[in-house]
Order: sequence, then C-alpha cells, then structure tokens
Amino acid sequence: MGNDPENENMKYIGAHVSAAGGVQNAPLNAQKIGATAFALFTRNQRQWASRPLTDESIRQFKKNCADTGYTPDQILPHDSYLINLGHPEPAALEKSRRAFIDEMHRCQQLGLKYLNFHPGSHLRKISEAECLARIAESINLALDRTTGVTAVIENTAGQGTNMGHRFEHLAAIVAAVGDRTRVGVCLDTCHTFSAGYDLTTPDGYEKTMALFNEVVGVTYLRGLHLNDGKKTMGSRVDRHASLGQGTLGLETFRRIVNDPRFDGIPMILETPDDGLWAEEIRMLKAMMAD
Ligand SMILES: [Zn+2]
Ligand SMILES: [Zn+2]
Repeated sequence: MGNDPENENMKYIGAHVSAAGGVQNAPLNAQKIGATAFALFTRNQRQWASRPLTDESIRQFKKNCADTGYTPDQILPHDSYLINLGHPEPAALEKSRRAFIDEMHRCQQLGLKYLNFHPGSHLRKISEAECLARIAESINLALDRTTGVTAVIENTAGQGTNMGHRFEHLAAIVAAVGDRTRVGVCLDTCHTFSAGYDLTTPDGYEKTMALFNEVVGVTYLRGLHLNDGKKTMGSRVDRHASLGQGTLGLETFRRIVNDPRFDGIPMILETPDDGLWAEEIRMLKAMMAD
C-alpha cells in the first residue's frame, strides 16, 4: 500500500529530502528511505531568484506523489532561509514578502496544504513586539493572495535576533492573523530544547507539551521536526544531531512517536547525516510498535 502508514497510529514519519533535478524527485527520494512523510524546498533555498515551476514538473510531482502514495497531509514544504517576514527595513521586508508569496503560490500549484517557515528576526532595529506584528501582517498579505495553503510557523532556538523561540511569540503571531484556519505551528524538537523547554524527562516533556497547549494550542500543530541537538537546554544555539547522538536522546523520540498529539501531521527528520535517515525512520517506527 505505498506509503500508507496503515495501523501505525496515524503517524507520518519522514525526512527533508532532496528536490535536486526538480520537485518531482522529492516523493521518489522519500520512498527510497521508507518515509511516510517528507519535506522539500520548492525552489533553491539559498537564492532570491527562482524560475517558476513548469507545468510539466507540477504534473510529474502530482503523479509521483499519487504513485508513491503521499497525500498533502504527509508533505511539509519549507521556505527559503533568506526570507525574513519581520524585517525592520521596508525594502528588505518587501523583498521577503514577495518571495514568501511566491513560495505559497508554488505550494498551491503543487496542490500542497502547508508551507513551513521561520518567523523572522528583528536585527536589533525594532522591538520584539513590532517584529511579531510585521510577521503577522506578512502572513495576512500572503493568505490574501493565495488559496488553500496554511502558513506553518516553526518555533526557533532563538539564535541571534530570531523570534519564535518563546511559545508566546507563536501565540502573538497566530492571534494577529485574520484567517485562523490557515495558520499553524510546527515544533522543532532541537529548537524547543535549545530555547529552554525540556523534552528529555517524562515530567519535563509533559510540562512542555501542557504549556504549549495552554499558550498556543495543540489544535494549531501542523508539523513536527524530529532532531536531536548538539547543545544544552536553553543554549539558544541551533545545532541538529542525528537521533540518539545528542542532548535530547532516544527516549525523547520514543515519547513523541507514542504521543497521540502528533497523529496525522508530518514528522520530519532534519538530522545532519542523510545516510542514516532510512535507519532513523525504521527505528522510530519500531519504537511505536514497542
Ligand atoms: Zn526550519
Ligand atoms: Zn526545523
């Protein structure tokens, strides 16, 4: 049955796979590692300029997804790292907003339902509150110009002047978005821990998830990034590690794959060694069966 997770508690588990040679290759790359979910970039993530998607590559992407059994529920595209939706300077903000709308439009063309992005940075030129307001306004502009795609805000480690490391930041953005049905949140396990929220003990994990539910709301969860981390809790440094090789440890991931709060959303590895992804996915699936 292709990549239907069948009776595995509706958990969709995969990795951020390569789309080299065209977006249509991403589902094929996901299938090769036994993934039941995947993330991709729909354009070169390190350049501002990008060619529009061709009709042929859109058609092939949809066909390959259908052939391999991936539905939009299992796919979590990620936007370019260059985009800063809270940029303090008007020209740069405008450039980011244009690029973000283009990314939302690409997802719409591909029939996808999510676009995952990092909220933005104040660069020490505006207040945190003003930066959050700009981010929400950027989302509103993008939602107005597109249809069917949900803007999925990722929590960050809080490195440098990045916003989004406190659950309150995510809540403030969501609260200022006009169409609440098209905004959601993605939690990155490495970022969450680096931002100072424990996930590594049963008690710390439950407290963090309860706090997230209280401040943001589990109903807004649209994705999860499964990363171990190289740094300590509260370090505010974003360094991913392969599962079991970092400060979060395997028991954290065992708790996550057995937590019904993550049913039905894409859970994506962004761990540094892509040669381990197939094994990491196998291990996570085995943890569910335990
Ligand atoms: Zn990210
Ligand atoms: Zn992430």
